[in-house]
Amino acid sequence: ATLPYDDQNVFAKILRGEIPSKRVYEDDHAVAFHDIAPVAPVHILVIPRGPYVSWDDFSARASDAEIAGFVRAIGHVAREHGLVAPGYRLLANIGGDAGQEVPHLHVHLFGGRPLGPMLA
Ligand code: 5GP
Repeated sequence: ATLPYDDQNVFAKILRGEIPSKRVYEDDHAVAFHDIAPVAPVHILVIPRGPYVSWDDFSARASDAEIAGFVRAIGHVAREHGLVAPGYRLLANIGGDAGQEVPHLHVHLFGGRPLGPMLA
């Protein structure tokens, strides 16, 4: 079972503007900003505006418009950063075994260098 949404999590605070972030994109459904500890030349986090703990929660509860908006926002950010031709990687950690640290759904977008093989 998914935990209840904690509106004091760090990305909720970023969404409300209570702590700063370097935003690169926002629309009605999604916000994108640079990861505070980048592991690639491009390391952006894309999050839905709605209160979803994880991909599991989002895919079960979000409206079709929220899901479409979020998926399109990720693609838009990748294109805007010139990542389509060289290639890039998307990753979402869901829950404890994946090491999810922040309990607000986020998709990592990595690019700007060859990324090597996928982690097991
Ligand atoms: P997770 O491990 O949950 O998939 O990823 C959480 C990510 O959020 C990490 O890559 C971490 O560097 C990033 N992060 C944590 N706190 C902050 C913050 O306050 N601001 C930003 N921009 N990124 C953060």
